[in-house]
Amino acid sequence: MIDVIVAGCGPTGLMLACELRLQGRQPLLLDKDAEPTKVVRALGLHARTIEILDQRGLLEPFLAVGRKYPLGGFFAGIRKPAPERLDTAHPYVLGIPQTTTDRLLTEHALDLGVEIRRGCELVGLTQDDDAVTVDLADGTSLRARYLVGCDGGRSTVRKLLGIAFPGEPSRVDTLLGEMELTASPETLAAVSAEVQKTQRRFGAMPLGDGIHRVLVPADGVAEDRAVPPTLEDFQKQLRAYAGTDFGVHSPRWLSRFGDATRLAERYRSGRVFLAGDAAHIHPPTGGQGLNLGVQDAFNLGWKLAAEVNGWAPAGLLDSYQTERHPVAADVLDNTRAQMELLSTEPGPQATRRLVTQLMDFEDVNRYLIEKITAIGIRYDFGDGPALLGRRLRDVQLKRGRLYDLMHAGRGLLLDQTGLLSVAGWADRVDHIADVSEELDVPAALLRPDGHVAWLGDNQHDLTDHLGKWFGAAAG
Ligand SMILES: Cc1cc2nc3c(=O)[nH]c(=O)nc-3n(C[C@H](O)[C@H](O)[C@H](O)COP(=O)(O)OP(=O)(O)OC[C@H]3O[C@@H](n4cnc5c(N)ncnc54)[C@H](O)[C@@H]3O)c2cc1C
Repeated sequence: MIDVIVAGCGPTGLMLACELRLQGRQPLLLDKDAEPTKVVRALGLHARTIEILDQRGLLEPFLAVGRKYPLGGFFAGIRKPAPERLDTAHPYVLGIPQTTTDRLLTEHALDLGVEIRRGCELVGLTQDDDAVTVDLADGTSLRARYLVGCDGGRSTVRKLLGIAFPGEPSRVDTLLGEMELTASPETLAAVSAEVQKTQRRFGAMPLGDGIHRVLVPADGVAEDRAVPPTLEDFQKQLRAYAGTDFGVHSPRWLSRFGDATRLAERYRSGRVFLAGDAAHIHPPTGGQGLNLGVQDAFNLGWKLAAEVNGWAPAGLLDSYQTERHPVAADVLDNTRAQMELLSTEPGPQATRRLVTQLMDFEDVNRYLIEKITAIGIRYDFGDGPALLGRRLRDVQLKRGRLYDLMHAGRGLLLDQTGLLSVAGWADRVDHIADVSEELDVPAALLRPDGHVAWLGDNQHDLTDHLGKWFGAAAG
């Protein structure tokens, strides 16, 4: 039987499959589309996702093709520089088109030995005590111990499970595409700057080789967003907003997106889980959706593998929902707030001016940046020091960088006392006896996703927490 079927070959499904494979499991990754999409949605990776890539030794190829941008200006497009000394070794946005992110993750998955089947659509599912049966559009079926729906905002898995998806429907649609145009760069810049004074969902960004990424409000909300707009739709809307269509022609791809905001009521039903856009959708303000999905996958991967590998302690799998659902709820709220601040109505404009002033206070600015980049996330592991439940940033140890020691995706005890032991869990947890000038705690137990599960110097207490997070001691 297959260990885990992952439905959806977007960034969430790819990251999840990589994590499962890293933990020795054999996932099967399915996608309904025969070929990867050409549509470029996300344009960048935020600090926490960059850290995740670094923790798994994957960052180099992303850095080789991406471009680093300053972090300021990401909350509702309010132009303020990011505060100094952010709690991360990666205080930048890595500009990289989603199609490239997907390609690099696919290459990594294949290198790890993940099986990917394209042109393979999930159309049905049933589950019993032992397994999930997945029905495919070609009439065949597959059986797996677990299924994860990473099949995007219109998730078939979510609908088949009957999991409610409450929230607000789309109120406005935006057309987005890549195309050539005949207007001069000067005309384009001057007209765009004028339109953007009153319309923030407008732009024509040169991408090189004469191609532009064009963004313009749509005429109403589409009944079926799966049907792409036409070039004529773009021409008509550009004329309506800018008084000219800039001579757009030769589109590479055309698409539309809305501003619906919804969160799945549950992330789990028996042996089936939801992750990424299948579990939450929101407007792209702040550039968070892809990042949120990759981070869901990073949270779920090691837990699901632990369950299949037979050592997961009671409740570990359910902690996926307990930890990630509130994170998504918070992202939905911050995108709702950003959408308000982007409105050109007088009330929201006044609020925007006020928030802009508030961001001069360093603590406010830091708070908002930590939200958008997800480096401020703290899971609720109970009372304890501020670091408990947060992911530990990369720190320099005597023997090298902490994140370089996390590539295998195992638990890790960073022991500055040199007196502690992980005996009984050495098959799941590495013991690193070393010191760092950047760390003022005697020892930290890190989960495979880098979140701090325990801090202290008491062996008895540590042993309790090893059992809590990594199951029963071996032998
Ligand atoms: C205009 C725009 C700009 C954005 N900018 C950013 C940004 O800058 N930063 C950011 O973080 N996010 C951004 N996002 C959001 C980001 O694109 C999504 O959050 C991200 O793609 C979600 O990844 P996913 O893997 O969960 O789902 P998807 O990328 O949607 O992948 C789902 C996959 O599932 C497959 N599938 C669907 N149904 C089935 C089925 N029944 N069987 C098998 N396969 C199936 C699909 O073919 C698809 O490949 C943006 C979105 C938009 C629209």
